[in-house]
Amino acid sequence: MVLCLLAAAVAAQSPRPHVTGYEFTIGLPDTGAIIHGRAAIHYWRGWRLQDTLQLDLVGMTVDSVREAWFAYDGRVLRVVPNHRFMGDNTLFIDYHGAPQDGLIIGQDPHGRRVVFADNWPERARYWLPVVDAPSEKARVRFTVVAPPAWKHVANGTPVYGVDGGSEHLIGWDEGHPIPTYTMVLAAGDFAVSVHRSVRDGKRLIPIQVWTYPEDAAYADSVPFRRATEIVEAVQRLVGPFPYEKLAHVESSTKFGGMENASAIFYAERPYLERRMGEGVVRHETAHQWFGDAVTERDWHHLWLSEGFASYFDWVVGAALDGDSVLNHGMRANAETYFRSSVVDRPIIDTAEHDLLKLLSANNYQKGSWVLHMLRGQVGDSAFWRGIRAYYRRYRDSTALSGDFERVMEQASAQQLDWFFRQWLYQPGYPKLDCRWTYDGASHRVALTVSQTQPAAWGVFRLPAVAVEIRGEGGAALRRFIALAGRETSVTFGVSFAPADLRIDSDGRLLTQASVKR
Ligand SMILES: [Zn+2]
Repeated sequence: MVLCLLAAAVAAQSPRPHVTGYEFTIGLPDTGAIIHGRAAIHYWRGWRLQDTLQLDLVGMTVDSVREAWFAYDGRVLRVVPNHRFMGDNTLFIDYHGAPQDGLIIGQDPHGRRVVFADNWPERARYWLPVVDAPSEKARVRFTVVAPPAWKHVANGTPVYGVDGGSEHLIGWDEGHPIPTYTMVLAAGDFAVSVHRSVRDGKRLIPIQVWTYPEDAAYADSVPFRRATEIVEAVQRLVGPFPYEKLAHVESSTKFGGMENASAIFYAERPYLERRMGEGVVRHETAHQWFGDAVTERDWHHLWLSEGFASYFDWVVGAALDGDSVLNHGMRANAETYFRSSVVDRPIIDTAEHDLLKLLSANNYQKGSWVLHMLRGQVGDSAFWRGIRAYYRRYRDSTALSGDFERVMEQASAQQLDWFFRQWLYQPGYPKLDCRWTYDGASHRVALTVSQTQPAAWGVFRLPAVAVEIRGEGGAALRRFIALAGRETSVTFGVSFAPADLRIDSDGRLLTQASVKR
């Protein structure tokens, strides 16, 4: 993290060289684990011609870097081109080796040889020379040299070559800049099924399901049955699908699903055990917009990726199957967060340097609640206006939480700094202890709400907490109260004898409440 901040500070002062596009040719072996790579790296070079271009590449052997001086220590490749041109340049690197990580060469559960990339968070560098940081997005093209019987898929659109008079697939090209943690290829024996394409204006977006042949019928009919409808639902809510196609790929990824741009990889075990649900498909599909197209510029803002995908899982579920899906899903997310070990840490936890530990209930479940509560705070129409504006403005780029905050402030015409400070930088959640009495003579309910969470979590500002009072005969009264300090007392006039009082009755708050009369 210190290094990231340092790099950002230097970038602000000088036009440091940066990569705009990668073209990788990857030779995959039919035995053994040695790959041969050739990288054409398109980069922009500023006026400080002595600046080196630093690429992450771990554990490979660098055979040559054409027309450049280079030094390689097994982790970082430093390159200074011999020529003296500013502006756009291309660098050619030949390398080989057995990847220690990042590109997993193994067997599928049926014993067939398969190759899958699995890059998150910073494992692309084990097989690709890249500037391996979420802030450094670039276009990518993969040319795959593999045994002839294999099929392969990667980011973007297929690239065909002519050999002996016939056209055949040689690689894949992604025309939008994507983060290196999503630059992937898969190769092996796959069944490919084509689902109904998604339309975006005149553009048709192919939707494909790539599986081990034994799992094709199951995948098409169960988890991916509505693969097209899911993309259409996010398009309606947010904006156009960001890429050229969407392939859903069964794989050996160590994550349940990995949202690689336009080629999502899913763990193979749930296919084999026939227990794969649609939720993971909704989550990873939503990442195409949030995480892939709009990327967290810094890992500590991971909620901009995982919180959004976790929220859209249920939002899309609700769009397809009704609002109760969202209510149940958010309740489940709250319970998962309450039970987690990270409630004493804030979402933006700059003290956490283990990137895998950022995959926590803070960035996922609490992150989803930040969006749900923001929606309650600003209202549906401002919320969706803001979400669409945020996607439009930062698509194919990167963002930090402050960028999202500014867009939402514009969309809602509200000041929201307190909201984001409270929910992103403060740990924990409000625990509400509610006590109420009813005075039959004056027909008034008196309610006192105390915030009883630990002092280290701070006090929460909750401007509109729904209170519902119910009578025996079905009479009901609903009011909104504002909670600001440790203790708030209010009274309501009630025209019936109240039997029950509920707080946060609309389920809009990430809170644990107890109510006593
Ligand atoms: Zn995710």
